[in-house]
Amino acid sequence: MSPRRSGESGRLMTQRYRDKYFIDSEGPLLPETLKDLDMAYGVSARINQMVPCESCGVCCHQKRIIVQDHEIARISEHLNIERSSFCDEYLSREDDKWFFSRTDPCHFLSRENRCSIQDVKPEICIDAPFLTTQFIGAVFYLLKYQREGLIIPMLGNFILDDSPCSRKAARMVSEEIAMVLSRDVEPVTDGEFLNNPAKAV
Ligand code: SF4
Repeated sequence: MSPRRSGESGRLMTQRYRDKYFIDSEGPLLPETLKDLDMAYGVSARINQMVPCESCGVCCHQKRIIVQDHEIARISEHLNIERSSFCDEYLSREDDKWFFSRTDPCHFLSRENRCSIQDVKPEICIDAPFLTTQFIGAVFYLLKYQREGLIIPMLGNFILDDSPCSRKAARMVSEEIAMVLSRDVEPVTDGEFLNNPAKAV
């Protein structure tokens, strides 16, 4: 039986991740590709939920951490500084989008490898690492070789780095893929992974 991804929540989730990761800016996608992307997103989101953060800090060394407009307001308010000062001090603007300035690691990573703005950190940080590496790796591969059924069997290949959580995820991915392919599973909802207490860098 194929996985169930119909229904309003599934459609909303699909549109949301397409917007969030700028997938539509790559041009029109085949319906088969979108179907595969939904499945790849579902597997990556579930792994993101289930694998606890080991505080290794690897995610916080990424060079392009996007900060959405509403997140700028939230973080600057949390830091008790004006939005304009926050933008000047911490952000850079590229391609009409805001990113944390290219520091390595992120300004907000503490010496103990903890996020000092944990409660207000950008959504992209909540999505790390498996939605930002495994899933995005899959997206780029798919966009290049749009072919039905290509991505799911290969999803584990996109767990790239050698962090402790990646090693755990690599052991889980084939089981998760088998479950998605063989059972009638509900799509992961935004609320589920936004509220995941395990993701506490
Ligand atoms: S905002 Fe926090 S979680 Fe995001 S990269 Fe910076 S330190 Fe890491």
